[in-house]
Amino acid sequence: MEKEITLGDKTFKPFISKEKIDEQISRVAQEINRDYKGKKPLLVGILNGSVMFFSDLLKKIDIECEVAFLRVSSYKGTETTGNVKKVLGLDKNIEGSDVIIIEDIVDTGITLEHIVNDLSGSKPNSLKVATLLFKPNAYTKDYPIDYVGFEVGNEFLVGFGLDYNEIGRNLDELYIIKEPMLNIILFGPPGAGKGTQSELIQEKFNLTHLSTGDMFRFHMKNDTALGKKAKEYMEAGNLVPDQLVIDMIDNKLSESHDTDGFIFDGFPRTPDQATALDELLAKKDWEISKMVSLEVEENELVKRLLLRGKDSGRKDDSDESIIRNRMAVYNKETAPLKDFYSNQGKHIGVDGIGTIEEINGRINSALA
Ligand code: AMP
Repeated sequence: MEKEITLGDKTFKPFISKEKIDEQISRVAQEINRDYKGKKPLLVGILNGSVMFFSDLLKKIDIECEVAFLRVSSYKGTETTGNVKKVLGLDKNIEGSDVIIIEDIVDTGITLEHIVNDLSGSKPNSLKVATLLFKPNAYTKDYPIDYVGFEVGNEFLVGFGLDYNEIGRNLDELYIIKEPMLNIILFGPPGAGKGTQSELIQEKFNLTHLSTGDMFRFHMKNDTALGKKAKEYMEAGNLVPDQLVIDMIDNKLSESHDTDGFIFDGFPRTPDQATALDELLAKKDWEISKMVSLEVEENELVKRLLLRGKDSGRKDDSDESIIRNRMAVYNKETAPLKDFYSNQGKHIGVDGIGTIEEINGRINSALA
């Protein structure tokens, strides 16, 4: 099960395989066989979602049992709850029976509560609940869930009886919704705080952080062929030639699987790099979501960089004339990219003066 699927306007990725589903249904069946030995439970399936779970579970129940189904319909527009459920279709007298409600998924528990209240009125001997999937974080009720196949998070799931706008029920395994990628460019002059803020954003949104400056420094430290080529440009505070940077990013993007997105820090820095990035992303059906530009005035930047140079020993941060050259390069080559992304409706300017937390708060609001 490695393939992503598209249902309507959404993409889903594999979540729980047939084999794992089968294992857990076997376990639930064993528990029911054990708990109801000598009794004759009535399994009540809730349509439509429970159909696959019900059928597979039933095949594994080896004690005598009976079956029935019911459906729940929702009415909107009442004043109090806004959503009243009505139980339809149970054509069996359940008085005195040992009823097990069979659900596909228990989410908030609102539907389940209505079913339980409704069936309790018919005086069963006992009433328990079995569900393939349970969302403990979404559950708002106290009624116990007796048999659970899997506990899951709050993500939207589809397949194995569960639908997205009535499609996907026939999939024989479970899929989880795939959120669109979040690809952010954290933009700004040297010393604006891109590295620090990138790390915070990376953690919050589970992104892969790509800093071209860090990559070049890594290559220089390890004296690789690329490091040797980049060294003279970096030490003078000039830009490394576009093609070297673009190839390095191309390699990184190809290596990075299974990420929720990227945060680009220090890249792109020229119009050619920005165009190349759009093309590289488009090849994978990805795109830049937002370009967040940290705005800090130049004298403040020079002060920050000289201070950073004292701690890090970075040559390009230690000499004011090299720093001023980096600023000049930024203003000439890089700053015009704000227009490039404004034209795509993706540029957001953020005030880069303040504490790390304050600036981070502004970035988070800009991304919300
Ligand atoms: P940074 O750490 O982003 O300030 O980058 C340090 C130095 O690495 C820059 O002054 C450039 O010499 C080089 N560099 C980093 N990213 C790029 C890029 N996207 N294009 C060209 N040169 C870069």
